[in-house]
Amino acid sequence: TEVLTRPNLALWVTKDHKIYQKEEPYPACPPDDCIVHVKATGICGSEIHFWKSGRIGDCCVTHDIILGHESSGQILEVGSNVKGLQIGDRVSIEPGVSCWECDMCIRGRYNLCPKVKFSGTPPSDGTMRRFVAHPARFLHKIPDTMSYATGALIEPLSVAYNAVVRAKPYLGQPVVICGAGPIGLAMALCARAAGAFPIVITDLEQNRLEQAHTLGFNRTLKIDLSWDRLTTAAKIREVMGTSCLPQIAFECTGAASSINAACYALEDGGTLLQVGCGKPEVELPLMSMGFREVNIITSFRYQQSWPVVIRLVNEGVLGDVDGLITHTFPVEKTIDAFETCADRSKLAIKVQIVDE
Ligand code: NAD
Ligand code: ZN
Repeated sequence: TEVLTRPNLALWVTKDHKIYQKEEPYPACPPDDCIVHVKATGICGSEIHFWKSGRIGDCCVTHDIILGHESSGQILEVGSNVKGLQIGDRVSIEPGVSCWECDMCIRGRYNLCPKVKFSGTPPSDGTMRRFVAHPARFLHKIPDTMSYATGALIEPLSVAYNAVVRAKPYLGQPVVICGAGPIGLAMALCARAAGAFPIVITDLEQNRLEQAHTLGFNRTLKIDLSWDRLTTAAKIREVMGTSCLPQIAFECTGAASSINAACYALEDGGTLLQVGCGKPEVELPLMSMGFREVNIITSFRYQQSWPVVIRLVNEGVLGDVDGLITHTFPVEKTIDAFETCADRSKLAIKVQIVDE
């Protein structure tokens, strides 16, 4: 009950590139929802984008919205229709609330629901507030042994899990992961658990690659943008320590140069698994890819991942996922958390906002 006396501080972003905190009323609880006391929230690169540039592709900040989509917390109130959840339950929040009625939802590809309401993505408000109402169907219990900080990592890990499910790497399959940001590193943890080996991780920045080393990935390559196709392939082969080249490239930057490097790095017949989102249109070496039968697969968010990823994390199958968290701030210092995340000199991977 002490918790209820705290202000419902929310983090807003404006269309003119500002962020601010403002107290919100305590939310009403619709019949199919629960009220969650948000205890941990990660900041995602997309939120820095909405703040600094006001848009991602066609998705624009046209009015002030509350950010946040990587959260966990404790249930304070349960809607009248809700079964299977109780006050006090510890949950991780799945932010993509799909309609459950359209063809894509019915076919089980609910990440592609055209009517999805995605927390913290315009026009929907997000989870960066102390108290939030969220549909119970998209709340997933986490075990008592799992911290809220870990519970808030289920979202980025789900992005990587979905990409693994799409690409299906097998035991001993050599892969390259382009980009050692939070998504690339989550990708590395999931690909390793799936059996991919060896795993090479690339980045432009050495300090990001150091963080990959800390998580146990020693085959890293600092990309030089002046490398041509043959040089890129030779460098990858050298780090991989095998005579073959990667058979899957998990592209986790969205940068055109990196997508091209991924294509160059792949063995003939390999697969480009595109996770990164950069410019809306990107030029590809399509003829070379065609002559080499390189497949392209995309992966968008996730579906049906939470229960699986919670299990994998809880049993240690993915390894040290908490190693992704580099900075933690209290709710009152959310603006500082954003500034830290946006400042490359702070060497942040995952910055989290927590409330006890
Ligand atoms: P991030 O910006 O923190 O990390 C990207 C990393 O790539 C950085 O370390 C950067 O130095 C590196 N990089 C940039 N250009 C490079 C190049 N040419 N070669 C090698 N490395 C390069 O971003 P993140 O949060 O880790 O997210 C990665 C990407 O995944 C983003 O594009 C994001 O939009 C996308 N994403 C996609 C989904 C999805 O559902 N498909 C979900 C979440 C995020
Ligand atoms: Zn739908």
